Amino acid sequence: MKCPFCGYDDSKVLDTRPTDEGYTIRRRRECLKCQKRFTTYEKIEQSPVMVIKKDGNRQAFDRDKIVRGMIKSCEKRPVSADEIEEAVNNIEKKIENSMRREITSLEIGEMVMDELKDLDEVSYVRFASVYREFKDLQSFVDELENFVKKKN
Ligand SMILES: [Zn+2]
Repeated sequence: MKCPFCGYDDSKVLDTRPTDEGYTIRRRRECLKCQKRFTTYEKIEQSPVMVIKKDGNRQAFDRDKIVRGMIKSCEKRPVSADEIEEAVNNIEKKIENSMRREITSLEIGEMVMDELKDLDEVSYVRFASVYREFKDLQSFVDELENFVKKKN
């Protein structure tokens, strides 16, 4: 933690106390170089990201669920467990970087499809067909055509 006065990056803690019902820790510090005092706040990482499902219910983000969904789509396809892990890591990172506390299951589904697109076309189509719940054959064909168009 850099001193706001001189930029020196070492200080001693004079006093520590919880505020905000214990979610924030307030520390009174003294710069080891210029001896000026300043205050820092430490925030506890909040509860996990919540996923808003189609029916409006919320559920804690569950990485394993995404892994399972992808494994199912990649069954008997040349996609390794490592590739699936990496894809899910990418998705997690995207969500983290967005700094959002809530995300819809639809958005997660889109992210999974993005990853599968690059990994394996058959797995992608399998996942899309389950996920988008195609009402009829035509909408499924439309999706496929879109996919092929985008690729070319
Ligand atoms: Zn200082």
